[in-house]
Amino acid sequence: MNLSQNEKDYNRLLLDDDALDLLKELRLLVVGLGGLGSFVTTELVRLGAKNLILVDNDRVSFSNLNRQILYDRSDVGKSKALVASKKLKKIDPSVNIEAFDAGFTAANGSYLVEKADIVIDCTDNFETKRLLNRICYVKGRGLISAGVGSWEGWVASFPFFRKEEKEIPCLECLFPGDLETLKELGGGNLPTVVTTVAVVASVQVQEVINLITQNGENLEGKTLIVDLKTYQWVPVKLSKNPQCPVCSPS
Ligand SMILES: [Zn+2]
Repeated sequence: MNLSQNEKDYNRLLLDDDALDLLKELRLLVVGLGGLGSFVTTELVRLGAKNLILVDNDRVSFSNLNRQILYDRSDVGKSKALVASKKLKKIDPSVNIEAFDAGFTAANGSYLVEKADIVIDCTDNFETKRLLNRICYVKGRGLISAGVGSWEGWVASFPFFRKEEKEIPCLECLFPGDLETLKELGGGNLPTVVTTVAVVASVQVQEVINLITQNGENLEGKTLIVDLKTYQWVPVKLSKNPQCPVCSPS
């Protein structure tokens, strides 16, 4: 059975051929294959994305199984990047996946970002988020960043491939200050649940669609804050920080 054709037939109900062709050609780098990364990659493959680059140096643990839907008990102890690649290929064997069992670092960051058109930040720490932001800005790649913690999350989009045409604020305009005080916003030290990561990851994937189809709203220049306990869904406008060390260098 040709799964790709099947997917395309169903997705065509909402996405036209141009959008599906674009999605097919788009090179998407997903950094972090935990809660967010599990949903993001699964949704991208089911939508018809064909070129994924996956980066994570972590191993699957029992404590991940409450929210990281790519993994099950038989995967505990194994490389997330390699397991994710295998599982995603089961959904669509025609997807091209380059999986790196490695962290995203200053040493490999430029090499990885250059491989992609859009980078999806599914990490849980601001050190990596800032590094991703700096490299994506310099290389002119789109960055869709997000964070989750308990019942809350945020998503922000930085289409730096348009930075020559217009002013685009960056992640460091949104979150200035020292890394220590930013820890909580990254979600790294707050417990997270499957509902929060599912909603936030789905917004990240929807942003890929909205960026490439350009016929709806997108999160450029905004950050969307979601609170699942109160059902608040608040887009907040961002402005460029004239003192930003990344996008407004003196
Ligand atoms: Zn900035």
